[in-house]
Amino acid sequence: MLNIVLLGPPGAGKGTQAELIVKKYNIPQISTGDIFRANIKGGTELGKKAQSYMDKGELVPDELVVDLVRDRLNQDDCADGFMLDGFPRTVFQAEELDKMMKERNLSITKVLNIEVEASKLIDRIAGRRVCRSCGATYNINTKPTAKEGICDVCGGEVYQRADDNRDTVENRISVYNSQTAPLVEYYTKAGNLATINGDQPMDSVFSDIVKVLGE
Ligand code: ADP
Ligand code: ADP
Ligand code: ZN
Repeated sequence: MLNIVLLGPPGAGKGTQAELIVKKYNIPQISTGDIFRANIKGGTELGKKAQSYMDKGELVPDELVVDLVRDRLNQDDCADGFMLDGFPRTVFQAEELDKMMKERNLSITKVLNIEVEASKLIDRIAGRRVCRSCGATYNINTKPTAKEGICDVCGGEVYQRADDNRDTVENRISVYNSQTAPLVEYYTKAGNLATINGDQPMDSVFSDIVKVLGE
């Protein structure tokens, strides 16, 4: 069973690698960012609460995130493993995740820490485009769609996220450095951190991940 956490700054390639991991290992991807965006689109209470934080590039408060992840991990499709993308993002969230795992007699198999230099993240995020229907990730520079504005996978509309503008991005990177980067030490101490060089072509990053997770 694989219980994976993807760690890394915004733009490191978590979502991109998640798509590949899901296909190969057949485990569900749990992206807290995707869940919040779906709630904003659906006009839910949670979406309304999360939106103002996301627009500024701040983290959504822990208490809005933790219960949501606990509920998601309780669903049947997580029984044989899962991959968390974008959670935990604070030491508090990591401690809560440890408790959830303990309650289930489970553990986190690997934390994949995808590293990319800060200077490259900003260009990656500025070029990011996402499918509104299926969530597939593209990049106008490094991974364009075959037809402009149309998702290769599902034919949906491809758009730029509201928070993928240069002002917000800089704040998101500094929020990452102050609130999320301490998790590198947290999981190094726990003994399950694997560092992945994210500054390579996407398929090379993925083959390094497969080396860590096993065929
Ligand atoms: P994250 O989920 O960590 O924020 P994404 O997977 O959405 O990151 O990637 C951010 C942007 O960078 C996307 O536009 C994606 O297509 C692009 N990208 C991802 N991995 C690479 C890579 N190895 N090389 C170049 N561009 C990449
Ligand atoms: P990226 O792929 O660029 O890292 P995400 O889609 O993971 O971005 O997250 C977008 C936004 O959603 C974050 O800037 C933050 O406001 C909110 N968010 C997502 N996951 C969490 C979390 N675990 N804790 C707090 N806020 C979160
Ligand atoms: Zn699509």
